[in-house]
Amino acid sequence: MVRAMRVPAFIEPFIDVLFPPRCPLCGEALARQGGLCAACWLTLAVPGEPSCELCQRPFPDGTANGTVCARCLAERPRHDGIAAAALYNDPTRRLILAFKHGHKIALSDLLARMMVARLPTCANAVGPDWLIIPVPLHRWRLWTRGYNQSALLAGEIARVTGARLVVDGLARIKATPSLATLGRKARSRVLSGAIVPNPRRAELLRGAKVLLVDDVYTSGATSGACVAALKRAGATKVVISCFARVLDEALPFSEAEAMILPEVETKTPGALLRASS
Ligand SMILES: [Zn+2]
Ligand SMILES: [Zn+2]
Repeated sequence: MVRAMRVPAFIEPFIDVLFPPRCPLCGEALARQGGLCAACWLTLAVPGEPSCELCQRPFPDGTANGTVCARCLAERPRHDGIAAAALYNDPTRRLILAFKHGHKIALSDLLARMMVARLPTCANAVGPDWLIIPVPLHRWRLWTRGYNQSALLAGEIARVTGARLVVDGLARIKATPSLATLGRKARSRVLSGAIVPNPRRAELLRGAKVLLVDDVYTSGATSGACVAALKRAGATKVVISCFARVLDEALPFSEAEAMILPEVETKTPGALLRASS
């Protein structure tokens, strides 16, 4: 697995001379490496409260605590919660594209720190007794991209939380086409049997508490297949940790399209969007 290289503290001043710290979104000069400028921080949308009790989908202000969203009511999710660092909007899309396709793997540190900040605290605190498992890539995809972006994030999250990284807890044994243009039923048909628990990790997965790491949570189809595989293997709890969560499922996350048309305007999740500060 490829890991973002960590440099010793004494080397940092030299790196800063060679590569002056810059905001990855707008290029503004920064005081130190690995962050965003103040103006870009304000463009990120952090999902807030009140939210769906089962999936943490943010609700408009004034919604009563304990309310469950329509999607969860229609079909009770098998996961045990979704912790998203940010809502999917133009700035988060550009961060993800740079990280995923621009080979800016140094961004994994920033994105993972934001994801850890959103992990459930108190009873659900993710610690050394948890397993951190990334959403797997098929080996062809891994070969063409060179790294699994979710595995990079999972490695950073494991380092910060002290939980155990099991990078091969799941395997994608079937190459699947882009799910962006498919409907709900077609997505689950395409994914059926595509993701399986690794038999060599059976012992570890039985009775485990798992943090499943994904970069973008779109329709929930892929992560849903991962959650089902983990629960089949005997995991007692699976919480999903993602960097960006798409709230408006009508908005397809088509990476190819976004790469060709970098200026394409994305729709904000409207009233559900809460600006972070
Ligand atoms: Zn900036
Ligand atoms: Zn929900």
